[in-house]
Amino acid sequence: MNLTARILIGMVSGLLLGLLIQQIGFSEEDWLGWFFVNGVMDAGGQIFIRSLMLMVVPLVFVSLVCGAASLGNTGSMGRLGGKALGLYLLTTALAVTIALVVALVVSPGEGAEAGAAAAEFEAREVPSVKDTLVNIVPTNPVAAMAEGKMLQIILFALLLGVAFSHAGAAGARISSFFSDVNEVLMKLITMLIQLAPYGVFCLMTELFATIAFEEIYKLIYYFLTVVAALLIHVTVVYPLILTVFARVNVVTFFSKMREPMLVAFSTSSSGATLPVTLRTVKHRIGVKNEVASFAVPLGATINMDGTAIMQGVATVFIAQFYGIDLAVGDYLNVILIATLASVGTAAVPGVGLIMLTMVLAQVGLPEEGIMLIIGVDRLLDMMRTAVNVAGDGMVATTVARSEDQLDMEVFNDPEAGRVFESQ
Ligand code: ASP
Repeated sequence: MNLTARILIGMVSGLLLGLLIQQIGFSEEDWLGWFFVNGVMDAGGQIFIRSLMLMVVPLVFVSLVCGAASLGNTGSMGRLGGKALGLYLLTTALAVTIALVVALVVSPGEGAEAGAAAAEFEAREVPSVKDTLVNIVPTNPVAAMAEGKMLQIILFALLLGVAFSHAGAAGARISSFFSDVNEVLMKLITMLIQLAPYGVFCLMTELFATIAFEEIYKLIYYFLTVVAALLIHVTVVYPLILTVFARVNVVTFFSKMREPMLVAFSTSSSGATLPVTLRTVKHRIGVKNEVASFAVPLGATINMDGTAIMQGVATVFIAQFYGIDLAVGDYLNVILIATLASVGTAAVPGVGLIMLTMVLAQVGLPEEGIMLIIGVDRLLDMMRTAVNVAGDGMVATTVARSEDQLDMEVFNDPEAGRVFESQ
Protein backbone atom coordinates (compact mmCIF):
# COMPACT_ATOMS: atom_id res chain seq x y z
CA MET A 1 0.00 0.00 0.00
CA ASN A 2 1.32 3.49 -0.72
CA LEU A 3 2.02 6.16 1.84
CA THR A 4 -0.87 8.50 1.01
CA ALA A 5 -3.37 5.70 1.53
CA ARG A 6 -1.75 4.76 4.83
CA ILE A 7 -1.72 8.38 6.03
CA LEU A 8 -5.42 8.66 5.16
CA ILE A 9 -6.20 5.50 7.09
CA GLY A 10 -4.19 6.83 10.06
CA MET A 11 -6.04 10.10 9.88
CA VAL A 12 -9.57 8.71 9.68
CA SER A 13 -9.02 6.05 12.34
CA GLY A 14 -7.43 8.65 14.66
CA LEU A 15 -10.39 10.94 14.11
CA LEU A 16 -12.91 8.18 14.90
CA LEU A 17 -11.00 6.96 17.95
CA GLY A 18 -10.68 10.55 19.22
CA LEU A 19 -14.41 11.14 18.85
CA LEU A 20 -15.12 7.86 20.63
CA ILE A 21 -12.84 8.85 23.52
CA GLN A 22 -14.53 12.26 23.66
CA GLN A 23 -17.91 10.47 23.92
CA ILE A 24 -16.69 8.13 26.68
CA GLY A 25 -15.20 11.11 28.53
CA PHE A 26 -11.92 11.14 30.45
CA SER A 27 -10.05 13.21 32.99
CA GLU A 28 -6.41 14.08 33.61
CA GLU A 29 -6.28 11.45 36.34
CA ASP A 30 -7.87 8.35 34.83
CA TRP A 31 -5.88 5.97 32.67
CA LEU A 32 -7.61 6.99 29.47
CA GLY A 33 -6.63 10.64 29.95
CA TRP A 34 -3.34 10.33 31.75
CA PHE A 35 -1.95 7.23 30.08
CA PHE A 36 -3.57 7.09 26.65
CA VAL A 37 -4.49 10.59 25.39
CA ASN A 38 -1.98 12.79 27.21
CA GLY A 39 0.58 10.00 27.42
CA VAL A 40 0.91 7.61 24.50
CA MET A 41 -0.93 9.64 21.83
CA ASP A 42 0.71 12.93 22.78
CA ALA A 43 4.17 11.32 22.81
CA GLY A 44 3.55 9.64 19.45
CA GLY A 45 2.44 12.91 17.88
CA GLN A 46 5.38 14.83 19.28
CA ILE A 47 7.90 12.24 18.17
CA PHE A 48 6.51 12.44 14.64
CA ILE A 49 6.67 16.25 14.51
CA ARG A 50 10.16 16.29 16.00
CA SER A 51 11.39 13.69 13.54
CA LEU A 52 10.31 15.99 10.70
CA MET A 53 11.72 19.09 12.35
CA LEU A 54 15.11 17.46 12.74
CA MET A 55 15.40 17.33 8.97
CA VAL A 56 14.52 20.93 8.25
CA VAL A 57 17.80 22.80 8.80
CA PRO A 58 20.19 20.28 7.24
CA LEU A 59 17.87 19.63 4.32
CA VAL A 60 17.23 23.28 3.47
CA PHE A 61 20.87 24.20 3.87
CA VAL A 62 22.34 21.37 1.83
CA SER A 63 19.79 21.32 -0.98
CA LEU A 64 19.92 25.09 -1.36
CA VAL A 65 23.70 25.15 -1.49
CA CYS A 66 23.49 22.54 -4.28
CA GLY A 67 20.76 24.50 -6.07
CA ALA A 68 22.63 27.80 -5.86
CA ALA A 69 25.90 26.16 -6.91
CA SER A 70 24.40 24.86 -10.13
CA LEU A 71 22.52 28.08 -10.86
CA GLY A 72 25.40 30.33 -9.85
CA ASN A 73 26.99 30.47 -13.27
CA THR A 74 23.85 30.83 -15.33
CA GLY A 75 22.77 34.18 -13.92
CA SER A 76 19.16 32.99 -13.70
CA MET A 77 19.00 33.12 -9.93
CA GLY A 78 17.79 36.72 -9.70
CA ARG A 79 15.00 36.13 -12.22
CA LEU A 80 13.94 32.93 -10.50
CA GLY A 81 13.94 34.54 -7.06
CA GLY A 82 11.98 37.51 -8.36
CA LYS A 83 9.34 35.28 -9.93
CA ALA A 84 8.92 33.17 -6.79
CA LEU A 85 8.76 36.18 -4.49
CA GLY A 86 6.35 38.02 -6.81
CA LEU A 87 4.00 35.04 -7.10
CA TYR A 88 4.07 34.41 -3.35
CA LEU A 89 3.11 37.99 -2.55
CA LEU A 90 0.55 38.26 -5.34
CA THR A 91 -1.30 35.07 -4.40
CA THR A 92 -1.33 36.12 -0.75
CA ALA A 93 -2.77 39.55 -1.58
CA LEU A 94 -5.38 37.78 -3.73
CA ALA A 95 -6.14 35.44 -0.84
CA VAL A 96 -6.87 38.34 1.54
CA THR A 97 -9.04 40.00 -1.09
CA ILE A 98 -11.10 36.84 -1.52
CA ALA A 99 -11.39 36.54 2.25
CA LEU A 100 -12.61 40.12 2.60
CA VAL A 101 -15.18 39.76 -0.17
CA VAL A 102 -16.56 36.48 1.19
CA ALA A 103 -16.65 37.85 4.74
CA LEU A 104 -18.42 41.04 3.66
CA VAL A 105 -21.03 38.98 1.80
CA VAL A 106 -21.61 36.50 4.66
CA SER A 107 -21.29 39.06 7.52
CA PRO A 108 -20.31 36.45 10.12
CA GLY A 109 -19.78 39.00 12.92
CA GLU A 110 -23.28 40.42 13.05
CA GLY A 111 -25.03 39.13 16.13
CA ALA A 112 -22.26 36.60 16.84
CA GLU A 113 -21.77 35.17 20.30
CA ALA A 114 -18.34 35.54 21.86
CA GLY A 115 -16.20 32.46 22.31
CA ALA A 116 -15.28 31.33 25.81
CA ALA A 117 -11.56 30.64 25.59
CA ALA A 118 -10.92 34.33 26.21
CA ALA A 119 -8.26 34.70 28.89
CA GLU A 120 -5.52 32.62 27.23
CA PHE A 121 -4.48 35.18 24.64
CA GLU A 122 -1.35 37.20 25.17
CA ALA A 123 -0.42 39.86 22.64
CA ARG A 124 3.14 39.85 21.40
CA GLU A 125 5.39 42.60 20.09
CA VAL A 126 5.48 42.57 16.32
CA PRO A 127 8.93 43.36 14.87
CA SER A 128 9.23 46.36 12.54
CA VAL A 129 9.80 46.01 8.79
CA LYS A 130 13.29 47.49 9.21
CA ASP A 131 14.27 44.90 11.84
CA THR A 132 12.81 42.13 9.72
CA LEU A 133 14.94 43.16 6.73
CA VAL A 134 18.13 43.66 8.75
CA ASN A 135 17.61 40.32 10.44
CA ILE A 136 17.72 38.42 7.15
CA VAL A 137 21.51 38.83 7.23
CA PRO A 138 23.01 36.49 9.82
CA THR A 139 25.91 37.62 11.97
CA ASN A 140 26.68 34.01 12.73
CA PRO A 141 25.42 31.31 10.34
CA VAL A 142 25.98 28.59 12.92
CA ALA A 143 23.75 30.42 15.40
CA ALA A 144 21.17 30.90 12.63
CA MET A 145 21.13 27.15 12.07
CA ALA A 146 21.04 26.36 15.78
CA GLU A 147 18.06 28.66 16.21
CA GLY A 148 16.40 27.56 12.96
CA LYS A 149 16.22 31.10 11.53
CA MET A 150 15.05 30.15 8.08
CA LEU A 151 15.60 33.36 6.09
CA GLN A 152 19.13 33.68 7.49
CA ILE A 153 19.87 30.07 6.56
CA ILE A 154 18.47 30.64 3.07
CA LEU A 155 20.63 33.71 2.52
CA PHE A 156 23.81 32.04 3.78
CA ALA A 157 23.19 28.90 1.70
CA LEU A 158 22.59 30.99 -1.43
CA LEU A 159 25.78 32.97 -0.95
CA LEU A 160 27.81 29.88 -0.24
CA GLY A 161 26.38 28.04 -3.26
CA VAL A 162 27.18 30.96 -5.56
CA ALA A 163 30.70 31.08 -4.15
CA PHE A 164 31.08 27.35 -4.89
CA SER A 165 30.20 27.97 -8.52
CA HIS A 166 32.87 30.65 -8.80
CA ALA A 167 35.60 28.77 -6.99
CA GLY A 168 36.89 26.60 -9.85
CA ALA A 169 38.17 23.12 -9.04
CA ALA A 170 37.81 23.57 -5.28
CA GLY A 171 34.20 24.66 -5.76
CA ALA A 172 33.47 21.68 -8.02
CA ARG A 173 34.96 19.22 -5.50
CA ILE A 174 32.96 20.54 -2.58
CA SER A 175 29.79 20.84 -4.72
CA SER A 176 29.97 17.18 -5.53
CA PHE A 177 30.37 16.38 -1.83
CA PHE A 178 27.26 18.46 -1.05
CA SER A 179 25.34 16.70 -3.84
CA ASP A 180 26.12 13.39 -2.19
CA VAL A 181 24.98 14.66 1.21
CA ASN A 182 21.80 15.92 -0.46
CA GLU A 183 21.09 12.44 -1.86
CA VAL A 184 21.60 10.90 1.57
CA LEU A 185 19.34 13.44 3.28
CA MET A 186 16.61 12.77 0.73
CA LYS A 187 16.88 9.09 1.58
CA LEU A 188 16.61 9.95 5.27
CA ILE A 189 13.41 11.89 4.74
CA THR A 190 12.00 8.98 2.74
CA MET A 191 12.76 6.79 5.75
CA LEU A 192 11.31 9.17 8.29
CA ILE A 193 8.04 9.83 6.50
CA GLN A 194 7.26 6.17 6.98
CA LEU A 195 6.30 7.31 10.47
CA ALA A 196 3.65 9.62 9.08
CA PRO A 197 0.62 7.26 9.26
CA TYR A 198 1.31 6.53 12.94
CA GLY A 199 2.16 10.14 13.78
CA VAL A 200 -0.96 11.41 12.05
CA PHE A 201 -3.03 8.78 13.87
CA CYS A 202 -1.72 9.96 17.26
CA LEU A 203 -2.19 13.66 16.46
CA MET A 204 -5.76 13.16 15.23
CA THR A 205 -6.73 10.95 18.18
CA GLU A 206 -5.47 13.53 20.67
CA LEU A 207 -7.08 16.42 18.83
CA PHE A 208 -10.53 14.92 18.44
CA ALA A 209 -10.54 13.56 21.99
CA THR A 210 -9.99 17.07 23.33
CA ILE A 211 -11.52 19.48 20.80
CA ALA A 212 -14.32 21.70 22.10
CA PHE A 213 -17.11 21.46 19.54
CA GLU A 214 -19.31 23.91 21.50
CA GLU A 215 -16.84 26.68 20.68
CA ILE A 216 -17.15 25.91 16.99
CA TYR A 217 -20.97 25.86 17.14
CA LYS A 218 -20.93 29.28 18.77
CA LEU A 219 -18.82 30.75 15.99
CA ILE A 220 -20.10 28.58 13.19
CA TYR A 221 -20.57 31.45 10.72
CA TYR A 222 -17.04 32.71 11.23
CA PHE A 223 -15.72 29.16 10.98
CA LEU A 224 -17.60 28.40 7.76
CA THR A 225 -16.66 31.74 6.19
CA VAL A 226 -12.97 30.98 6.66
CA VAL A 227 -13.48 27.47 5.26
CA ALA A 228 -15.37 28.86 2.23
CA ALA A 229 -12.65 31.40 1.45
CA LEU A 230 -9.95 28.71 1.81
CA LEU A 231 -11.87 26.46 -0.56
CA ILE A 232 -12.36 29.20 -3.16
CA HIS A 233 -8.66 29.98 -3.07
CA VAL A 234 -7.61 26.37 -3.51
CA THR A 235 -10.22 25.38 -6.08
CA VAL A 236 -10.23 28.56 -8.19
CA VAL A 237 -7.04 30.60 -7.81
CA TYR A 238 -4.50 27.75 -7.72
CA PRO A 239 -6.06 25.78 -10.59
CA LEU A 240 -6.23 28.97 -12.68
CA ILE A 241 -2.55 29.75 -12.18
CA LEU A 242 -1.57 26.12 -12.72
CA THR A 243 -3.59 25.90 -15.94
CA VAL A 244 -2.77 29.29 -17.43
CA PHE A 245 0.83 29.85 -16.37
CA ALA A 246 2.19 26.39 -15.56
CA ARG A 247 0.09 24.60 -18.20
CA VAL A 248 -0.09 21.42 -16.14
CA ASN A 249 -2.90 19.08 -15.16
CA VAL A 250 -4.48 20.35 -11.95
CA VAL A 251 -5.80 16.95 -10.83
CA THR A 252 -2.35 15.40 -11.16
CA PHE A 253 -0.86 18.27 -9.20
CA PHE A 254 -3.26 17.97 -6.29
CA SER A 255 -3.14 14.19 -6.19
CA LYS A 256 0.62 14.46 -5.78
CA MET A 257 0.37 17.22 -3.19
CA ARG A 258 -1.97 15.14 -1.01
CA GLU A 259 0.82 13.81 1.19
CA PRO A 260 2.28 17.17 2.30
CA MET A 261 -1.22 18.63 2.60
CA LEU A 262 -2.30 15.82 4.91
CA VAL A 263 0.85 16.16 7.00
CA ALA A 264 0.33 19.94 7.16
CA PHE A 265 -3.26 19.41 8.23
CA SER A 266 -2.29 17.06 11.05
CA THR A 267 0.74 18.98 12.31
CA SER A 268 -0.55 22.57 11.76
CA SER A 269 2.99 23.53 10.89
CA SER A 270 4.26 24.29 7.41
CA GLY A 271 7.76 24.34 8.94
CA ALA A 272 7.52 20.76 10.16
CA THR A 273 5.96 19.74 6.84
CA LEU A 274 8.78 21.33 4.83
CA PRO A 275 10.84 18.14 4.36
CA VAL A 276 7.76 16.31 3.03
CA THR A 277 6.85 19.24 0.76
CA LEU A 278 10.38 19.46 -0.60
CA ARG A 279 10.53 15.75 -1.30
CA THR A 280 7.14 15.76 -3.02
CA VAL A 281 7.87 18.82 -5.14
CA LYS A 282 11.18 17.33 -6.28
CA HIS A 283 10.51 13.63 -6.64
CA ARG A 284 6.75 13.38 -7.20
CA ILE A 285 6.05 16.59 -9.14
CA GLY A 286 9.39 16.81 -10.93
CA VAL A 287 10.59 20.32 -10.06
CA LYS A 288 14.38 20.39 -10.45
CA ASN A 289 16.45 21.00 -7.34
CA GLU A 290 17.60 24.39 -8.68
CA VAL A 291 14.07 25.76 -8.27
CA ALA A 292 12.65 23.50 -5.53
CA SER A 293 15.50 24.00 -3.07
CA PHE A 294 14.91 27.75 -3.14
CA ALA A 295 11.18 28.15 -3.77
CA VAL A 296 9.92 25.60 -1.23
CA PRO A 297 11.83 26.75 1.89
CA LEU A 298 11.17 30.37 0.97
CA GLY A 299 7.48 29.54 0.55
CA ALA A 300 7.29 27.66 3.85
CA THR A 301 8.75 30.74 5.53
CA ILE A 302 6.94 33.63 3.89
CA ASN A 303 4.02 32.27 1.87
CA MET A 304 0.88 31.79 3.94
CA ASP A 305 -2.22 32.26 1.84
CA GLY A 306 -4.37 30.30 4.27
CA THR A 307 -3.18 32.39 7.19
CA ALA A 308 -3.87 35.60 5.28
CA ILE A 309 -7.40 34.35 4.54
CA MET A 310 -8.07 33.74 8.22
CA GLN A 311 -6.72 37.21 9.02
CA GLY A 312 -8.96 38.85 6.40
CA VAL A 313 -12.11 37.10 7.60
CA ALA A 314 -11.19 37.68 11.25
CA THR A 315 -10.74 41.42 10.66
CA VAL A 316 -14.21 41.75 9.12
CA PHE A 317 -15.68 39.53 11.84
CA ILE A 318 -14.16 41.59 14.67
CA ALA A 319 -15.18 44.90 13.08
CA GLN A 320 -18.77 43.66 12.71
CA PHE A 321 -18.82 42.22 16.21
CA TYR A 322 -17.85 45.56 17.74
CA GLY A 323 -20.05 47.48 15.31
CA ILE A 324 -17.10 49.41 13.85
CA ASP A 325 -17.44 50.52 10.22
CA LEU A 326 -14.38 50.15 8.03
CA ALA A 327 -13.89 52.41 4.98
CA VAL A 328 -12.64 51.25 1.57
CA GLY A 329 -9.18 52.62 2.45
CA ASP A 330 -9.18 50.45 5.57
CA TYR A 331 -9.85 47.34 3.51
CA LEU A 332 -6.99 48.20 1.14
CA ASN A 333 -4.85 48.64 4.21
CA VAL A 334 -5.94 45.22 5.47
CA ILE A 335 -4.86 43.63 2.17
CA LEU A 336 -1.41 45.17 2.47
CA ILE A 337 -0.89 44.51 6.16
CA ALA A 338 -2.34 40.99 6.17
CA THR A 339 0.00 40.12 3.29
CA LEU A 340 2.96 41.42 5.31
CA ALA A 341 1.67 39.81 8.51
CA SER A 342 1.44 36.42 6.85
CA VAL A 343 4.98 36.87 5.51
CA GLY A 344 6.11 37.47 9.08
CA THR A 345 4.13 34.54 10.50
CA ALA A 346 6.39 31.76 11.75
CA ALA A 347 5.60 28.39 10.18
CA VAL A 348 4.42 26.83 13.44
CA PRO A 349 0.97 26.25 14.97
CA GLY A 350 -1.15 29.22 15.95
CA VAL A 351 1.19 32.11 15.09
CA GLY A 352 -1.16 33.44 12.41
CA LEU A 353 -3.53 34.48 15.17
CA ILE A 354 -0.81 36.35 17.04
CA MET A 355 0.17 38.20 13.87
CA LEU A 356 -3.46 39.25 13.49
CA THR A 357 -2.75 41.88 16.17
CA MET A 358 -0.68 43.72 13.58
CA VAL A 359 -3.64 43.89 11.17
CA LEU A 360 -6.14 44.89 13.83
CA ALA A 361 -3.87 47.65 15.15
CA GLN A 362 -3.44 49.08 11.66
CA VAL A 363 -7.16 49.65 11.15
CA GLY A 364 -7.90 50.64 14.74
CA LEU A 365 -9.76 47.53 15.85
CA PRO A 366 -9.49 46.30 19.46
CA GLU A 367 -6.83 43.65 19.99
CA GLU A 368 -9.09 41.80 22.42
CA GLY A 369 -11.13 40.86 19.35
CA ILE A 370 -8.72 37.96 18.97
CA MET A 371 -10.09 36.44 22.16
CA LEU A 372 -13.43 36.01 20.43
CA ILE A 373 -12.07 33.60 17.87
CA ILE A 374 -9.23 31.87 19.71
CA GLY A 375 -11.46 28.94 20.68
CA VAL A 376 -12.04 27.83 17.09
CA ASP A 377 -8.57 28.51 15.83
CA ARG A 378 -7.11 25.07 16.29
CA LEU A 379 -9.11 23.35 13.58
CA LEU A 380 -8.84 26.37 11.28
CA ASP A 381 -5.08 26.38 11.79
CA MET A 382 -4.96 22.84 10.43
CA MET A 383 -6.92 23.76 7.34
CA ARG A 384 -5.06 26.97 6.60
CA THR A 385 -1.70 25.24 7.03
CA ALA A 386 -2.72 22.70 4.35
CA VAL A 387 -3.53 25.66 2.06
CA ASN A 388 -0.23 27.36 2.91
CA VAL A 389 1.65 24.23 1.86
CA ALA A 390 -0.39 23.75 -1.33
CA GLY A 391 0.53 27.33 -2.26
CA ASP A 392 4.24 26.59 -1.84
CA GLY A 393 3.96 23.61 -4.17
CA MET A 394 1.91 25.58 -6.69
CA VAL A 395 4.40 28.46 -6.91
CA ALA A 396 7.41 26.12 -7.09
CA THR A 397 5.72 24.23 -9.96
CA THR A 398 4.74 27.40 -11.82
CA VAL A 399 8.17 29.01 -11.52
CA ALA A 400 9.87 25.75 -12.54
CA ARG A 401 7.65 25.42 -15.59
CA SER A 402 8.39 28.96 -16.73
CA GLU A 403 12.12 28.32 -16.33
CA ASP A 404 12.01 24.97 -18.12
CA GLN A 405 12.93 23.28 -14.83
CA LEU A 406 9.89 21.01 -14.56
CA ASP A 407 10.42 17.41 -15.61
CA MET A 408 7.10 16.60 -17.29
CA GLU A 409 7.89 12.90 -17.41
CA VAL A 410 8.08 12.82 -13.61
CA PHE A 411 5.01 15.05 -13.33
CA ASN A 412 2.90 12.77 -15.51
CA ASP A 413 4.10 9.54 -13.95
CA PRO A 414 1.66 8.64 -11.14
CA GLU A 415 4.24 6.34 -9.53
CA ALA A 416 7.16 8.80 -9.54
CA GLY A 417 8.73 9.22 -6.12
CA ARG A 418 6.01 7.21 -4.43
CA VAL A 419 6.85 5.69 -1.05
CA PHE A 420 5.68 2.14 -0.44
CA GLU A 421 5.59 0.11 2.74
CA SER A 422 8.54 -2.05 1.81
CA GLN A 423 10.97 0.82 1.12
N1 ASP B 1 0.21 27.12 11.31
C1 ASP B 1 0.47 27.97 10.19
C2 ASP B 1 1.61 27.39 9.39
O1 ASP B 1 2.49 26.77 9.94
C3 ASP B 1 0.75 29.37 10.57
C4 ASP B 1 -0.47 29.98 11.17
O2 ASP B 1 -1.34 30.40 10.40
O3 ASP B 1 -0.60 30.01 12.39
O4 ASP B 1 1.66 27.55 8.20
